[in-house]
Amino acid sequence: KSGFAAIIGRPNVGKSTLMNHLIGQKIAITSKKPQTTRNRIQTVYTCEDGQIVFLDTPGIHKAKNKLGEYMVQVAERTLKDVDVILWLVEPTTFIGAGERHIAEQLGSLHLPVLLIINKVDTVDREEIAKAIDTYRKLYHFDEIIPVSALRGVNTEDIIPSILKYL
Ligand code: GDP
Ligand code: MG
Repeated sequence: KSGFAAIIGRPNVGKSTLMNHLIGQKIAITSKKPQTTRNRIQTVYTCEDGQIVFLDTPGIHKAKNKLGEYMVQVAERTLKDVDVILWLVEPTTFIGAGERHIAEQLGSLHLPVLLIINKVDTVDREEIAKAIDTYRKLYHFDEIIPVSALRGVNTEDIIPSILKYL
């Protein structure tokens, strides 16, 4: 099996950290400063069951300037070329205009979408459950996987889930 997976989500949710963790090497640049990843970065994950090309996208967000506009365009174009989308979020119950915008876009693509709730190391179980509930109401996700990319919690569920849809 082989295919393309795009990692999308707000700046700073941990997209680059997750990709680095899955690949096992520092390839994408991670930073505390939002929008460090200016262009899409491709990395290839190979295992016995197949090959996944990860596309780390700049955050989809409301553009405030020309560079921001360019980054949004790159992210949106990326989505048209992939087999699976990983939407990375933080364990929060806050859904803003940005999330609704992403949900609307995903609806028209007809692709499998896995919601990855990252940074579960920063909250308790109850908050994780509330976040899952909140996001279930926003979009019909094919799977919801709570993880900590930084600590490597539950991240082993991600690759098998992606392979299912390739
Ligand atoms: P990106 O903008 O979505 O690519 O986000 P980055 O991967 O650059 O991460 C942004 C910040 O969040 C960095 O300081 C990371 O160390 C931190 N971060 C990423 N994943 C986790 C996590 O699972 N738990 C915690 N506590 N911090 C995380
Ligand atoms: Mg990044």
